[in-house]
Amino acid sequence: MSQALQKKSALETKNLALLIANEELALKNAEIEKQLFALTLVNQTLASKIEEMESQIVEINDLAFYDPLTHLPNRRLLLDRLQIALTNSARNKQEGAVIYLNLDNFKALNDTYGQNFGNSLLQQIAERLVSSVRVSDTVAHLGGDEFVIVFQTLGLNNLKAAGHVRTIAKKLLKALSKPYRLESIPYECTSSIGIILFNPPVSSPTELLQHAAIAMQQAKKEEGNSLRFYDPKMQETISARADLEDELRTAIEKKQFQLYYQVQVDGTGKAVGAECLIRWIHPERGLISPTDFIALCEETGMIITIGHWVLDAACAQLNEWQKHPSTRDLVLAVNVSAKQFSQPDFVKQVVLTLYRHNIPPKFLKLELTEGMLVHDMDATIRTMQKLCKLGVQFSLDDFGTGYSSLQYLKKLPLHQIKIDQSFVRDIAHNAHDKTIVHTIIAMASSMELNVIAEGVETEEQQQILMNKGCSTFQGYYFGRPVPIEIFDAAMKSNYPVQEP
Ligand code: C2E
Ligand code: CA
Ligand code: CA
Repeated sequence: MSQALQKKSALETKNLALLIANEELALKNAEIEKQLFALTLVNQTLASKIEEMESQIVEINDLAFYDPLTHLPNRRLLLDRLQIALTNSARNKQEGAVIYLNLDNFKALNDTYGQNFGNSLLQQIAERLVSSVRVSDTVAHLGGDEFVIVFQTLGLNNLKAAGHVRTIAKKLLKALSKPYRLESIPYECTSSIGIILFNPPVSSPTELLQHAAIAMQQAKKEEGNSLRFYDPKMQETISARADLEDELRTAIEKKQFQLYYQVQVDGTGKAVGAECLIRWIHPERGLISPTDFIALCEETGMIITIGHWVLDAACAQLNEWQKHPSTRDLVLAVNVSAKQFSQPDFVKQVVLTLYRHNIPPKFLKLELTEGMLVHDMDATIRTMQKLCKLGVQFSLDDFGTGYSSLQYLKKLPLHQIKIDQSFVRDIAHNAHDKTIVHTIIAMASSMELNVIAEGVETEEQQQILMNKGCSTFQGYYFGRPVPIEIFDAAMKSNYPVQEP
């Protein structure tokens, strides 16, 4: 073979080899591209997975730290921010404060118009709060109708800081009391605010919130749109009250109450009846006066249970009295608290108790106070009328200390007016009291009402009262409130009612 031919054949072989190598490369390329494509796909899926996870994290974060209704920080985030604020304040000595805000009568709105109304109000409140404070202040929604605002860097001066927060709190109250539109219905509401500054000795964010809430509760006792600063003395009173409340629950359970009886006499000194007055016989502290616990019982609603017990014990006693000539004509006066009287089943309770103890209703006299008449006059009159028709008597206690007005007196089916002891105390020396008593008696007699004076301690007081036309008397001069054995013994032996 010629040299040229040999060269050509070698070239052809090389070309072939190159072609084969090229094809192999192309194949490899295609393979790589395929893998690249697969990788891109994997990448894309990964990216969208990461995005999805990120949005889930945001969602979880939102749920964990923000209130879904108002989108404000929730309790958890608030506590977190408060902790940071407290640490900062301890470091830079700048004052900080917490405002605890609660709407008045929110439950009534929810109950009357439904939850949508309530929610719409809460959203609008949140907006107003946020727009009334600085961006750096934390406005949080604890749930329900409770909002908290945290203020930082209020300066180094404690008093100035207090004044500043007070101004903000007033501004907030004003902003929140402007009218709202709830599903196109106009609505207005008031709020109550409790304030606490970051002063030591506050140990934790939770404690700070608790104290601010206590101050808010105090503000709530006022008319609405009120604010109160937390005061450590407040805490002491509240703890003492909480202890008393616990002890009272035990007292109800263990039946630690007893009725004492104080005689009521006519102008000749003859006993015509008695008032029963509750005593708490405490296992350690001994006898406790009702002035130390009745108000709390009224506030907590425990008075309903206690009131039932008093009425039942009084009627049981009337039944005993019916069996003896010395006591069978006595009328027994029972104090009834406003809460008890306004119970829808009050009339039924009284009727059932009279029936259970087989008592003619005329021997039972219920003592009401003027204050309880002003609330719902019509309902009060209706309840009184029902019982009056049965023969139950009514006496208006502490007369002259409340909102006495002739207008309502005329409407009430009353039998008696009880002149408050504050007018009797100084009647011998105080011309003003003498005139008041004179006027009360004249007015009562024109309305044909019996008048009883309470707190009569001396013969002189009784004489003056009698000269003015008072017909019935009660007070230490005739007998102190005593346990039933002593009272009954005195009735049998015709007085005097001695102390135990
Ligand atoms: P109240 O109904 O005005 O009772 C008259 C209070 O004056 C009684 O106080 C009585 O012990 C006291 N007192 C009577 N005579 C004299 C006197 O000559 N001088 C002086 N300085 N005081 C006299 P007490 O027993 O401590 O009762 C206080 C209040 O507690 C009662 O005032 C009444 O509002 C309430 N309370 C007592 N028992 C009951 C009850 O069973 N139910 C309810 N809801 N309240 C009751
Ligand atoms: Ca009374
Ligand atoms: Ca009284």
